[in-house]
Amino acid sequence: MNDYDLLVVGSANADLVIGVERRPGPGETVLGSDLAVHPGGKGGNQAVAAARLGARTALLARVGDDAHGRLLLDAQRAAGVDTAGVLVGGAPTGVALITVDPSGDNSIVVSPGANGRLTPGDIRAAAGLFRASRVVSAQLEIPLETVVEVVRGLSPGSRFVLNPSPPRPLPAEVLAACDPLIVNEHEAKVLLGEGRAGVAPEDWARSLLAEGPRSVVVTLGAAGALVASPAGVARVPSVRVAAVDTTGAGDAFAAALAWRLGAGEPLAEAAAYAARVGAVAVTRAGAQESYPTAAEVAAL
Ligand code: ADP
Repeated sequence: MNDYDLLVVGSANADLVIGVERRPGPGETVLGSDLAVHPGGKGGNQAVAAARLGARTALLARVGDDAHGRLLLDAQRAAGVDTAGVLVGGAPTGVALITVDPSGDNSIVVSPGANGRLTPGDIRAAAGLFRASRVVSAQLEIPLETVVEVVRGLSPGSRFVLNPSPPRPLPAEVLAACDPLIVNEHEAKVLLGEGRAGVAPEDWARSLLAEGPRSVVVTLGAAGALVASPAGVARVPSVRVAAVDTTGAGDAFAAALAWRLGAGEPLAEAAAYAARVGAVAVTRAGAQESYPTAAEVAAL
């Protein structure tokens, strides 16, 4: 019996958002709206998404000993995430400074802060969490060497799910552990390189599978997703909704997929459920604030 359905290892950020009439150019100062502070970061988002669905979820992350860190921990706990594995201190909490203009275009500066100080040693020290978890998921907003240590720390029989975002080349050791590797269109193209990407998403999925992961999922926004394994490539039906804000949809999808896989569902079925979770998330504003409960997914 596992204590956790899902252990998320990754980033936690405070998203500081200001609306502006026009984003400032070099040397320019503009006045904006009141500041809005939202809990974010791909790791924090995934953990909240899974817990909202009802998964027993733990987060392994690092935040600063500061007000933003406390805000992020509060948001995790309010969603039901076990935060005993969240380390505090070493650097300020990660922050994304976001300006958004009336057309919705934004400019973003990210300070990784404490996320960049989550070390391989922190992963080794959390061996008990790994033993207690059925599925482990990660992203790339923490050091790559830390993700390598996550793969080395996996318990026999536990499953690893990776969303390589922001995308960068991955060691063979990490690729071989992914079951699945979850990418959107942009991530697929960066990992494959423009020359090798091929024209159709099915080609990206097959090419990525040839790089070593046990399975691949390509998310395609409003067009849904597709899954690829040695058994073949299959389309996951899209869910038609009126999209309001797609922020964090990919994180909700990844978390839901990881949870359902841990419950023993086949990949295509788990991805179809994840697509429904992603679809609900895009009908609401924000990232963590937009994530549905299982009852809300069922009602879709
Ligand atoms: P990311 O946020 O990483 O770019 P996507 O935009 O591909 O990822 O979204 C992840 C998943 O969320 C999609 O595979 C799909 O299932 C769902 N989704 C995203 N946008 C929409 C949309 N406009 N309508 C319905 N479902 C959506």
